[in-house]
Parts: sequence; C-alpha cells; structure tokens
Amino acid sequence: MPSAARPAAPSSKVRRQRTLRFVRTRTRELLMIGKALLSTRHPVLVHIIPMRRCNLACGYCNEYDDVSKPVPIEEMKRRLDLLANMGTSVITISGGEPLMHPELEEVIRHIRRRGMIAGMITNGFLLSVARIQSLNAAGLEHLQISIDNVTPDEMSLKSLKTLDSRLEMLAQHAVFQVNINSVLGSGVKDPQDALTIAHRAVGLGFTSTVGIIHDHNGQLKPLGDLETGIFEKVMELGKRSYSRFNDFQHNVARGKEHNWRCRSGSRYLYICEDGLVHWCSQQRGYPGIPLAEYTPEMRHREYETKKFCAPRCTVSCVQQVAMLDNWRDSQTLKPNLRKPGARRTAPAAPEQLVRIGSTHVDS
Ligand code: SF4
Ligand code: SF4
Repeated sequence: MPSAARPAAPSSKVRRQRTLRFVRTRTRELLMIGKALLSTRHPVLVHIIPMRRCNLACGYCNEYDDVSKPVPIEEMKRRLDLLANMGTSVITISGGEPLMHPELEEVIRHIRRRGMIAGMITNGFLLSVARIQSLNAAGLEHLQISIDNVTPDEMSLKSLKTLDSRLEMLAQHAVFQVNINSVLGSGVKDPQDALTIAHRAVGLGFTSTVGIIHDHNGQLKPLGDLETGIFEKVMELGKRSYSRFNDFQHNVARGKEHNWRCRSGSRYLYICEDGLVHWCSQQRGYPGIPLAEYTPEMRHREYETKKFCAPRCTVSCVQQVAMLDNWRDSQTLKPNLRKPGARRTAPAAPEQLVRIGSTHVDS
C-alpha cells in the first residue's frame, strides 16, 4: 500500500514558479471564457493525438495500439498552426500515451508559442523528476492522471500502488496543475478505492475528480447506494472544481438522460493521429474530414447540428464546453453523416471508461 505521508516539500523556487504559472493560466482561462461568450465562431477545446501507441493495455480501453509510430513533429506543428488560426483556446494532448512521443515537449512549446493553453492526459508511468522538469520548462499548464484502483489487477495496472512514487515526484517538482481522476461503477472491485485515491490526491495538493465505468455499450447505468455515497464524497473533495456548476455529473451517476446541446465538431474537436476531425473519442468517424480541409462553414454547421447521441452522452469535457453555449442558438440541423470526400476511420465502440466531475476545461 502506498504511504499516506507527504513527500518532501517543494523548493521555494518550485513554489514561486507554481504560483506564477497558476495565476497566469487562471487569467488566460478567464479570458478564454470571455472570448467564448462573445463569439461562437472558434473552437474552445481540442483534444489532439500525437501518438496512438501506449505502453499499457488496460482491459476497458479502445483508444490505443501497440504498433503505431509518433506523428512527426513538423506535421504536429502544422496541425497546431491550423488550430491556432481557427482561434482555438485550449489544446489537450491525449493518446495512446503522449509521453512516448519523442518530441512531446516541442509539441507543448508550440501550443504555448501560438498562445493556446496546454494540457495533457497521461498514464504517468513514464514520469521521472527529469521529465517533470522538462515538462515544466516546455510550459505545460495542466496534467491529468487517471488511477483505477489501489492495487493493480488484471483489468488495469494504473493503481495507487504503482503510481504513488510518481505522484510524490509531481507534488515536489511540478509547476503545472495536476488532477487525479479515480473511477467507480461496474468492473471496479472495491468502490472504496476511489475515495482512497481522492484523499491521497487532495493530500498531495492536487485536484481530484471521479469517473464512472459503464456497461459494455457505454450506456448510462445508475450507481448502487454504496457507490453513490462514495461518489458524493469524492465530488465533495473535488469542490474546488468547475464541476460543481454542472448537473451533468449527477445525472450520469444516477443513470438519467440529460438535455443539452452538444457542440462537438465546432466548439470541441477531436483530432486523431491521422489528422482527421471527429466529433469526439466516442464518435470517431464523424465527420472524418482532414483538419486542413475543415472550413468555418463546416464548423458552423456542426454547431447547429443536433447530435443523436447527446441524451445518453457520457463525455464530460464536451459537456463542460457546451455550457458556454447551452443558453443560446438551438440546434435544428440533422447530422450530415455522408459528407462527400469524408475520409472515414472505423467508428469506435462506445467507451466504457467515462470521466465525470472534471476540474478543468482541458480534460
Ligand atoms: S486507458 Fe490509457 S493507459 Fe490504458 S491502454 Fe488506454 S491509453 Fe493506455
Ligand atoms: S458522444 Fe457526446 S460528445 Fe460525442 S458527439 Fe455524441 S453527444 Fe457529443
């Protein structure tokens, strides 16, 4: 079992840099919200995949392979330039495992160079003190690690036991903000694990969120009484987060459908390793158009398109982006699923791991 002790305190230099980066990032986030409220013509959040390959093979995951090569850095920069020119506010690097990309820091530097907020989702296994310092220097602003259990099992090695030493490194050396996501729901052997993980995260000075694993079809499924109690406690621990403004998480926990306007393909984009635009990680294949050919008119059409999957959607980051526009512009168009020239990738099976209770807009 991991120790509950605090690691050595960060140096005064790290503390100073951490405060400075937090204030700068928070200021830019407020500006981002103001810009999003004033105009609906730009993407607010983009998830981009620099590498589909992963060093793990979690039993529930459909978002990785063990063979693909990293996207070359010049191509990554070209895609980031296209996104910056659209006016994108936040880029979250995801995968696969982004830390396997040999020029990840240059990707982060380029995001910052182009004035966008830089975040990353990682399994954390490749973190070291030197890598954390290199991510600090590159200008990373948010990092999220998802931890599935207290001790590793056949479904997932992402446990508190295997990752705790990396968490301590982050607490001591990271100047960017760190969020730890735990999970509840079917397939989780001990629901108390989520609470143990959340307490450890908060004890180390991180923010904490909770996700729910649903049934095989990714459908909403209510939590049992014990899990609901734990869910409420973890949400309470994560109260520093923006998620307290969002009823979506509570609807997901109770298995309820929700009424909202998904603006994916417009305010939120998912860019796969092939450089194609998709609605989101659960709806890969739509619209499946190369980023360079994705016009403002196409984005606007998606803004006005009612998504068939919205009532039972479980993707919290898109929900949070949608809150900026839910009060305006009803959606009257039907999805154009047979767009001429669209290059389709195989639609993914619905995700089983569903993240809710997000702390930041970059996740
Ligand atoms: S969940 Fe994350 S760490 Fe696990 S296989 Fe998928 S991409 Fe890799
Ligand atoms: S699954 Fe959710 S986020 Fe993805 S397109 Fe459907 S409604 Fe939008």
